[in-house]
Amino acid sequence: MRTFRPLLAAALFLLTAAAPHGLDVDGMDRAVKPGEHFFAYANGKWVAATGIPPDRPSWGVFGMLDEKANKRTADLIRDTAAQKNAAGSEEQKIADYYAAYMDEAAIEKKGLHPLDSELAAIRAIGDRTVLARIAGGQLRADVDALNATNFYTNRLFGLWVSPDFDTPSINTAYLLQGGLGMPDRDYYLGTDEHAKATQAKYRDHVEVVLKLAGIGDAKIRAARIYELEHRMAEAHVSRTDSEDVHKANNRWTRADFSSKAPGLDWPAFFDAAGLGGQRTIMVWQPRGVTGIAKLAGSEPLELWKDYLLFHAVDRAAPLLPKAFVDENFRFYGTALSGATELRARWKRAVSATNGALGDAVGKLYVKRYFPPAAKAAGQTMVANIVTAFGKRIDRLDWMTPATRAKAKAKLGTLYVGIGYPEVWQDYSGLRVDRGEALANAQGAALFDYRASVARLGKPVDKRQWWLTPQTVNALNVPLQNALNFPAAILDAPFFDAAADPVLNYGGIGTVIGHEISHSFDDQGSQFDAAGKLANWWTPQDFAHFKESADRLAAEFNAYEPLPGLHVNGALTLSENIADVAGLSASYDGYRNGYGGKPAPSAQGFTGDQRFFLAFAQVWRTKTRPEALRRQVLTDGHPPAQYRADTARNVDAWYAAFDVKAGEKLYLPPGGRVRVW
Ligand SMILES: [Zn+2]
Repeated sequence: MRTFRPLLAAALFLLTAAAPHGLDVDGMDRAVKPGEHFFAYANGKWVAATGIPPDRPSWGVFGMLDEKANKRTADLIRDTAAQKNAAGSEEQKIADYYAAYMDEAAIEKKGLHPLDSELAAIRAIGDRTVLARIAGGQLRADVDALNATNFYTNRLFGLWVSPDFDTPSINTAYLLQGGLGMPDRDYYLGTDEHAKATQAKYRDHVEVVLKLAGIGDAKIRAARIYELEHRMAEAHVSRTDSEDVHKANNRWTRADFSSKAPGLDWPAFFDAAGLGGQRTIMVWQPRGVTGIAKLAGSEPLELWKDYLLFHAVDRAAPLLPKAFVDENFRFYGTALSGATELRARWKRAVSATNGALGDAVGKLYVKRYFPPAAKAAGQTMVANIVTAFGKRIDRLDWMTPATRAKAKAKLGTLYVGIGYPEVWQDYSGLRVDRGEALANAQGAALFDYRASVARLGKPVDKRQWWLTPQTVNALNVPLQNALNFPAAILDAPFFDAAADPVLNYGGIGTVIGHEISHSFDDQGSQFDAAGKLANWWTPQDFAHFKESADRLAAEFNAYEPLPGLHVNGALTLSENIADVAGLSASYDGYRNGYGGKPAPSAQGFTGDQRFFLAFAQVWRTKTRPEALRRQVLTDGHPPAQYRADTARNVDAWYAAFDVKAGEKLYLPPGGRVRVW
């Protein structure tokens, strides 16, 4: 939710994108009136002329930037692999991680053997204490509730280590629900034709994986595993409720787990997870955690063993022999995302290396591709927009003086990271072996988990980053009152030091404004200047905000990207507020930057038109129906075209394009949503 773009679309790629120094005028569709469909006006011909690469769920500016960043990252990794590296150095780890992933012959030869000890341990489960121990040993730091907003893990639970809600200067443990093979409870509980078809495909996938793993009675077992996951899904808290921090503020003592969530042997679970020393743990979704624990006590042990066997193999599939890789893609790639072609192996290897050794690769990336001048230019832009945001707060007539003072204080302590972290992750404890692809991946996940657990109870470093520099995204970290803008998004068309500033304000400026807004939106209002979970708004402030928010939710509820499938205005509310606020603050920043006047005309457009067109063009995206459905159901970000159309809430857009009553996007002045 606090990231700038959907997590699921952030796959990685390759092709070429020339850095535009101006608007893409040829990609516009001038036959469309801006007031009828602004996204199409700005991007129509590009949309008509563009195909989605077969191995991607969607394609657009983000995809092109992903490709660019990924091509650069691939070059770095390959260059590193080609040189002589000292044993134990970060370069050696990068080179060998990549090489092991690429060595398909070795992977084929090993078959399922890299999983032998894990599968044997599951098969040996003889009682529920051992079941809990296995589940605890599988816990990983693979979820992130507030920053990257990744609520998904196919392990029974997920751990998130983050500043404490009440004492944000100290890191604490948050436990999240998990256990599903499909992305969300809605996939299991949906009863329409599409949902039923996907459920059948998933049951089939479970069966095929079991068969490939040589497990007998695959059909019957698959049906039972599905039923177990369906029961977990029934216990799960919805995605919308998961995003409500007040429902997440549940501090349980270790004893609370046994009394409030009976069924799972919690002491055994925590002991195996290395969390035996934690006196309290925050339970993000009590209903989900309680429901899963209950099933751990009530469902047959044999069923749990089948379930764990399936998931152990399914998780490992991308690094198992080709038959597993293909089946994995058949379900997760094609059925869930609509991709028709598996990404080339080297691209997957680059992503995986990036995932395991993100900061080590990031260090090399910054050295080669992010000069100090780019960092300085980014910092200037941020300073301008922070100032513009502060002025908007000063001018707000609805905000009470007490709240206004707190908002200004929060803006004053905001930490803005540009390009890359000041403190890098230390990988000296991670072992990487050439020829051990799966063990490397499992080792990296465990290393990351242990590094997270090691931060528990320790002071928080506001400068800690939650994205790598080579990630094309941006982030607000509410519990640290911090923003992260990685090097890879500080690139054209978002940002180009050679372009007219107005285009940068329409691009990265709106992203910067968007992320700042998250510090002050419906969720940002819940975290004070120190990052503490404490509502700093008065009831009057909140009432005004809610009135605007409700109107914006209604505006988005009306959008229907697929027949019968509407955007969820409540789920996407924070993002939509941030887009309107970001666009407004960046517009002010742009006008201030030009001494209060519009930018000069160019390419046949006025300064203001160029600002809004630059904004709409960073949103150019084409998405496959399957991926679109998945995004609408599970992601806090609305589909891209509606993000461009949100310009309809800004007065200056009406003047810029002479938008009149009666046109589709027209909102009467009183109907436009102004939060900031
Ligand atoms: Zn956002």
